[in-house]
Amino acid sequence: MSDLTRMTATELAGLVASGETSAVEVTQAHLGRIAAVDDRVHAFLHVDTEGALAAARAVDERRAAGEELGPLAGVPIAVKDVLTTKGVPTTVGSKILEGWRPPYDSTIVQRLRDAGTVMLGKTNMDEFAMGSSTEYSAYGPTHNPWDLDRIPGGSGGGSAAALAAYEAPLAIGSDTGGSIRQPGAVTGTVGAKPTYGGTSRYGLVAFSSSLDTPGPCARTVLDAALLHQVIGGHDPRDSTSIPAPVPDVVAAAKLGATGDLTGVKLGIVTELTGEGAEPGVMAAFRESVDTLAKLGAEIVEVSCPHFRYALPAYYLIAPSECSSNLARFDGVRFGLRVGDDGNRSLEEVMSLTREAGFGAEVKRRIMIGTYALSSGYYDAYYGQAQKVRTLITRDFTAAFERVDALISPTTPFVAFPIGARTSDPYQMYLADLFTIPTNLYGGPGISVPCGLSDGLPVGLQVMAPTMADDRMYRVAAALESVVGTFTPPAL
Ligand code: GLN
Repeated sequence: MSDLTRMTATELAGLVASGETSAVEVTQAHLGRIAAVDDRVHAFLHVDTEGALAAARAVDERRAAGEELGPLAGVPIAVKDVLTTKGVPTTVGSKILEGWRPPYDSTIVQRLRDAGTVMLGKTNMDEFAMGSSTEYSAYGPTHNPWDLDRIPGGSGGGSAAALAAYEAPLAIGSDTGGSIRQPGAVTGTVGAKPTYGGTSRYGLVAFSSSLDTPGPCARTVLDAALLHQVIGGHDPRDSTSIPAPVPDVVAAAKLGATGDLTGVKLGIVTELTGEGAEPGVMAAFRESVDTLAKLGAEIVEVSCPHFRYALPAYYLIAPSECSSNLARFDGVRFGLRVGDDGNRSLEEVMSLTREAGFGAEVKRRIMIGTYALSSGYYDAYYGQAQKVRTLITRDFTAAFERVDALISPTTPFVAFPIGARTSDPYQMYLADLFTIPTNLYGGPGISVPCGLSDGLPVGLQVMAPTMADDRMYRVAAALESVVGTFTPPAL
């Protein structure tokens, strides 16, 4: 049998379903790969060897009993450490939750279990999903399999690196400002941010509740679509979950793979091209645009004038929501407690716990958010940012009256060296320049590998109207049918 770790989720599920290989064999192959490379990549914060093998055995038993298996049964998956997993450590990349074993599964993880996927473990991330490089993890950075001295993107760098390093064929991420798409772009993998409310936030440790969106990561567009189908759909336990079926993303990915985009109208966003993007990124993007045109798509330029205010608006809204959400980490209810020697007041213990438990970037966000929400400044900062959010949504609505989907490079630059942007927060924030508008609007966006620049992957982003997630899969799969998938140098 050829190397199981090189196969797609679709191929692996087929082999397990036909009995050519077992879920246990598939799982062991991936655990072996993790053991061989993860000391260099550091994609995982926790590997659940026993849990994974038990889940795999259960799939093999169901198959032996003649039960019908789902489309991803027996396929291993890596889960970003932002989602609660019953009895399995969940740190969110923070010291404040070190050692915490949640008493319940998030809805996404529950659906993954029900589908017979095999959770290998939890992946590294920037603390509380705040960052673009995974360097803000309290447990040390993840390394990009394309070049171990470079960042794998963030905040979900662990999930993307696990895919690129062939440690897992599927992964889960969460996207608040780009944390699925940007790591996908810089690791040469596929990352999709579903429509906000299209995937459940129940059990997703909250960063910015009006933006947080869990979603699929994979090495192919079809694999991402299959995963999207499994995790998506209404969840009564999430008050902002959309009570509607998941758009047929799998059919759309298959349609796109035929390589025919006749009748599809795509808009290149003027404000997300040119200024701010590296020449190598723009070259790969332009070449992909030519490819999409050759496949039959009609391409036009579309201006979204308010997108240039997206970054500042995001960096008021997200920290404001985070300052409120993170108030729950008080040293009483979860994880770390510092200085509780019987002589200190509750307030002192809370303060000491938060001082020791949160990293510098998290503290910076809490301070910005607290300031932006404080009386006297609320209207000038938070209120103003909300108005900008409305204008950005109107830009999207107007654009989608003219075109079916919008396209841009996913990121302004390729993976940068570890350490290059940590001293200047603003330089780090710029990594999400092109992904943030979608989050403020609430629509879906996907990053698909589109080429290389100096030997490093470049991603193309497709953005679609809310609840039209299928459209972005069709376009991404069509591009993939021509440019193929990308394999990093051997580790
Ligand atoms: N990089 C952005 C931030 O730091 C987005 C993070 C995310 O999507 N979770 O906030």
